[in-house]
Amino acid sequence: MFTKILIANRGEIALRIIRSAKELGIKTVAVYSEPDKESLHTMLADEKVCIGPAKASESYLSIPNIISAASIKKADAIHPGYGFLAENPRFPEICSQEGISFIGPSADTMRILGDKSQARQKMKKAKLPITPGSEKIIEDFNTAPKIAKNIGYPVILKAASGGGGKGMRIVRSSTNLEEMYSIAQHEAKAAFGDPSLYMEKYIEDARHIEIQLIRDSKGNSLAFGERECSVQRKHQKVIEETPSPFIDEKTRKKLIKAVEDASDFIDYQSLGTFEFLVDSQKNYYFMEVNTRAQVEHPITEMVYGIDLIKEQIKIAAGNKLSFPQNLKINGHSLECRINAENAETFIPSPGKIDFLVLPGGQGIRVDSAAFRGWDIPPDYDSLVAKIIVHSPTRAEAINKMQTALEMTIIVGIQTNLPLHMDILSNSNFRKGDYNIQFLEKFLNRKKAGRK
Ligand code: ADP
Repeated sequence: MFTKILIANRGEIALRIIRSAKELGIKTVAVYSEPDKESLHTMLADEKVCIGPAKASESYLSIPNIISAASIKKADAIHPGYGFLAENPRFPEICSQEGISFIGPSADTMRILGDKSQARQKMKKAKLPITPGSEKIIEDFNTAPKIAKNIGYPVILKAASGGGGKGMRIVRSSTNLEEMYSIAQHEAKAAFGDPSLYMEKYIEDARHIEIQLIRDSKGNSLAFGERECSVQRKHQKVIEETPSPFIDEKTRKKLIKAVEDASDFIDYQSLGTFEFLVDSQKNYYFMEVNTRAQVEHPITEMVYGIDLIKEQIKIAAGNKLSFPQNLKINGHSLECRINAENAETFIPSPGKIDFLVLPGGQGIRVDSAAFRGWDIPPDYDSLVAKIIVHSPTRAEAINKMQTALEMTIIVGIQTNLPLHMDILSNSNFRKGDYNIQFLEKFLNRKKAGRK
């Protein structure tokens, strides 16, 4: 087993990893940028190293700075968390050159799956259904109208290197294809340094359903029951739940089997998530694989009673997967992402937390790096806390979440707590009757009501 892990991240996920490492008896090293000096992950890790200024490209995204920190502190492994360098294949490559274990999949796996257009073709070979779309990236805009016509409108343009919902545009007719292409291309270039786009059929009224997988280096794998992540704004998840109120046992089994088979096909190692769109007829289409722990992994942990990060660390150290094959889903779990932002305009609201009460009690878990007096820097994402609940039934889980949110007090910054309260009391949400368009429609109705 490793003796010391460096966590190449910040915020709640850094704390989450520190927690599992401590339980395994492994020492931890936090890295931090200058504005993060007083943040919780630096206080709770065994050791800490400053890796640069606020700008992520000079700190959390700087491979040389992080590798130097690991060498100075003699860390034998690095956990990348999510975001930042988590899906950059150069990172595991350099770790391996330096004799440091990378807690995640191989650079080759990341490279194949990181290009979403390539990943589609690979998964097609692995027998996963994919949405109709371009075979590869669109090299020349002049070919785009024909591809779109063949697929049939509406289509969605997506960045090959995409993530976080960026570089994506829905195109409903040929008249605005060129404009949307140009916008998506610019956005992709700015966000990922790669303007490559590909095209897919836009599936109306779909649900975002994803399957968590864990697979060790000996080929033992386990895929878990689905997470439903259709409550989204601008293609970004806001609330997640498991099990999905829409997926039946037969579809669940099919998805689990398909993911286990596909992961064998590519010899996937570590934690990973296979994302799908599921249409109203319960046909599923592969979207992408996230080659890292995800923000919403705790809901799977809640219903299965497991620790995915501990297991991810153990299998990275060469251990055999220790989860039994007959794990069962127990009850229902929901997660609300509490962001520092205005609940109506969504403008980020960084700043100092003057007063803070986070909820607790049976079946409530809070993953957060927030504390009273913490000055949230404007330089990074706006996630303040993940509030996660677990109850025997979906209805009870929703009620528990409502109570938990009512007992959450955050003063000094604005948060999206009011938006979560609105969604949780919406009758369609409560019935489980929602898809990826639900939140945008809901917000448009609210806006119209205010006018
Ligand atoms: P990212 O990696 O940027 O998060 P994804 O490929 O995971 O991008 O897609 C994010 C979201 O965009 C999906 O959850 C879904 O809501 C929407 N989306 C993506 N592809 C399609 C599609 N073909 N049809 C309908 N919605 C889509």
